[in-house]
Amino acid sequence: MFNLILFGPPGSGKGTQSEKLIVRYGLKHLSTGDLLRSEISRQTALGMEAKNFMDKGQLVPDEVVIGMISSALDENPGAKGFLFDGFPRTSAQAEALDKLLDLKKTAIGVMLALDVSEEELVKRLLKRGETSGRTDDNNELVIRARITEYRNKTEAVADYYRQFDKVVMVKGEGSIDEIFEGLCKEIDNRI
Ligand code: ADP
Repeated sequence: MFNLILFGPPGSGKGTQSEKLIVRYGLKHLSTGDLLRSEISRQTALGMEAKNFMDKGQLVPDEVVIGMISSALDENPGAKGFLFDGFPRTSAQAEALDKLLDLKKTAIGVMLALDVSEEELVKRLLKRGETSGRTDDNNELVIRARITEYRNKTEAVADYYRQFDKVVMVKGEGSIDEIFEGLCKEIDNRI
């Protein structure tokens, strides 16, 4: 099994690159953002709780997303490996993920961290907001709040994996294909 974390701030291209990576490597894509949006569209209790945080650009409580990931792992017993996108986003989530993977006798192979300037992030997110229908993308204040949450709570997740020497920075600006090739090169070195 090969499990990887695609890491980076909101708007860094995790979703776009994940779609391509799962095809090339046959991984199961687990995006907590997508899972939460699906809960919201089905109007579940979990979705309704999560929406209050997401609309403000804040992180959803750890126990909610950890529970969701735990169920998703159990629902995919035959997976060749998992690509985690948008998770873990706090140190507590990282520790919980390690424990869940350990129970399944597996671990994170590598964290690939997309490097994109803040100016470029805001530009991309506002542009995505024009067409995505995501309410958290068409308000610059919410976008800034998400980037602040990232700097305050999520960036530390990279330090967590750095102690195990699992973090690789990858250039996140350029064409989609150039960035994809940069990611593949790092995966091929480790797989
Ligand atoms: P982006 O990376 O562009 O912000 P996501 O789809 O990954 O988009 O996340 C959208 C929102 O969902 C986040 O702003 C946050 O409120 C919530 N969310 C997603 N993943 C997590 C997580 N692992 N922990 C807490 N909240 C999360």
